[in-house]
Amino acid sequence: ENKQQESLLTMLQDVLELLKPQAKLKNVLLEINGEEQDIFCDKSQMKQVFINIIKNAIEAMEEAGKIVITIREVDNDIFIDISDEGPGIDEAVIHKLGEPFFTTKQQGTGLGLMITKQLLDRHRAKLEILQNEIKGSTFRIIFPKH
Ligand code: ADP
Ligand code: MG
Repeated sequence: ENKQQESLLTMLQDVLELLKPQAKLKNVLLEINGEEQDIFCDKSQMKQVFINIIKNAIEAMEEAGKIVITIREVDNDIFIDISDEGPGIDEAVIHKLGEPFFTTKQQGTGLGLMITKQLLDRHRAKLEILQNEIKGSTFRIIFPKH
């Protein structure tokens, strides 16, 4: 583990660069909104978290559309919202997300969100899963500023 002050925008831009080809195949645009923030973190661990969540978001998209990542400061936390236009998550399974091997995909491992939660734990950060009003879901990382 190697924690330092890291630029959130730089980490997210690196991850989007990596996932752009997969998004392009599905005609999905990836967009970042919000202010530049530094977070104290292990860069490769947090990039893995972003990869896992954004990859799921791309996989969830059933048609062309947009995934929006929004960075914002809320009291003593930084919120990183990753919002897709997929089908959203069934109420009946929402509590199962992050359980090892829980997947609804034919080729899924069901390990991505479990690992994500473990990596966030190591940063005392939290994951909230919200249903969007119109379409899709939002995965919100709540990262403590101190
Ligand atoms: P995998 O991607 O291998 O299925 P994950 O742990 O990454 O495993 O995700 C577990 C399950 O959570 C997925 O199979 C899917 O049902 C659900 N899920 C995750 N992200 C989303 C999303 N953005 N929209 C809808 N369902 C999602
Ligand atoms: Mg996954």
